[in-house]
Amino acid sequence: MGMKADVVIVGTGAAGLFNALNLPRNRKIIMITKADLESSDSFLAQGGICVLRNEEDYDSYFEDTMRAGHYENRKESVDIMIRSSQDIIHDLIGYGVEFQKAETDGEEERCGDRVPLLHGYAFTREGAHSRPRILFHEDVTGKEITSKLLEQVKQLANVEIYEYTTMKDIIEEDGRCAGILAEDADGIEFEIRADYTVFASGGIGGRYKHSTNFPHLTGDAIEISKKHGIRLEHLDYVQIHPTTLYSEKPGRRFLISESVRGEGAVLLNKDGKRFVNELLPRDVVTKAIREQMEKDGTDHVWLSMKNIDKETILKHFPNIYEHCLEEGYDVTKESIPVVPAQHYFMGGIWVDSDSRTSMENLFAVGETSCNGVHGANRLASNSLLESLVFAKRAAGKIREKFDIENK
Ligand SMILES: Cc1cc2nc3c(=O)[nH]c(=O)nc-3n(C[C@H](O)[C@H](O)[C@H](O)COP(=O)(O)OP(=O)(O)OC[C@H]3O[C@@H](n4cnc5c(N)ncnc54)[C@H](O)[C@@H]3O)c2cc1C
Repeated sequence: MGMKADVVIVGTGAAGLFNALNLPRNRKIIMITKADLESSDSFLAQGGICVLRNEEDYDSYFEDTMRAGHYENRKESVDIMIRSSQDIIHDLIGYGVEFQKAETDGEEERCGDRVPLLHGYAFTREGAHSRPRILFHEDVTGKEITSKLLEQVKQLANVEIYEYTTMKDIIEEDGRCAGILAEDADGIEFEIRADYTVFASGGIGGRYKHSTNFPHLTGDAIEISKKHGIRLEHLDYVQIHPTTLYSEKPGRRFLISESVRGEGAVLLNKDGKRFVNELLPRDVVTKAIREQMEKDGTDHVWLSMKNIDKETILKHFPNIYEHCLEEGYDVTKESIPVVPAQHYFMGGIWVDSDSRTSMENLFAVGETSCNGVHGANRLASNSLLESLVFAKRAAGKIREKFDIENK
């Protein structure tokens, strides 16, 4: 048994879906996912997606991204991401994605928005951002974006999607990628041959005991790349998120979005005292929490939302509110226990600024790739944006290659 496509995309998160949407409509595309269509980290993103608010914000956004990344970022990639951000938001709105609108003129004014496209939207702020520049949809921004992209892809006649189908290897011929070896839910292996292969297979959290990621995200594309001598970069750059809800139950850790701290929540030690500036970059806050836990001899610290009014909590963070309530905590009345957990992988399969890997005909996009945007530490809410920007660029490059071949 075997299949043939023009492009095979491994992964149906935001990166894979956006790649498919930007590929030529007259080309056959096969997408596979290891689980069901809604089980990707893209569905879990809470806080939001960054955008360049206006020209005056460019330097500050660039500097925030670089500073958070310890200046190890590839500057060219950061520039591309920031410069492409408004186009991407424009695309998303065109696909029906809804972002929170500003409620009052005062709020708009405070945001200083001068770009017509972004006029009227509300912006939130997260750690290490020097100003609010994050668009959001309640605290389920990833679900809003990814479900709308999925709806669009499902309507494409040239795209076939296979769930519960796992990439086990690539097909390497004369040093080029000629497709993948897949396995279906019954354990049957088959080839999917394609002119171009796109890895969009997400992060590595499934390899950790405590992670906010889906457990099936185990960095398969990275392992396969290693086996084939495909260039990898910064495999040790793993982000630990400072605030996940502490639980003794096994399984995925529930994230308490950084935008909760951006809106005023504070971290407290066992005596109810603050011990860190909550809006410092993630790695710095994580370190401070770990040191505090050691000092206090505890398994967690506390997060208090008492500085945020109840109405804002219910409106901006309904998902977090509900989840905490199910776990026995009313965040409008009491502090919640939080602990750092694995969250994001900055390293991955080395790609150039068009998402090409070191192997011909093989591309990598989204969290599995490393285009250097995030340096050694990702700035909050840059991930969805980066995934979309570079998935679109990969599609553009593939389109170009098809055009050249047709000449
Ligand atoms: C709880 C949480 C909150 C977050 N909040 C934000 C936020 O507010 N803003 C932000 O910018 N970022 C956020 N992020 C990060 C962001 O969601 C991810 O980095 C991004 O969505 C990654 O997209 P992706 O398409 O690369 O991967 P994913 O969305 O994870 O998709 C990976 C896909 O690959 C498939 N796959 C994996 N291995 C295989 C295989 N071997 N064979 C076949 N298929 C395979 C999976 O089944 C899945 O379909 C958050 C992440 C988490 C976990």
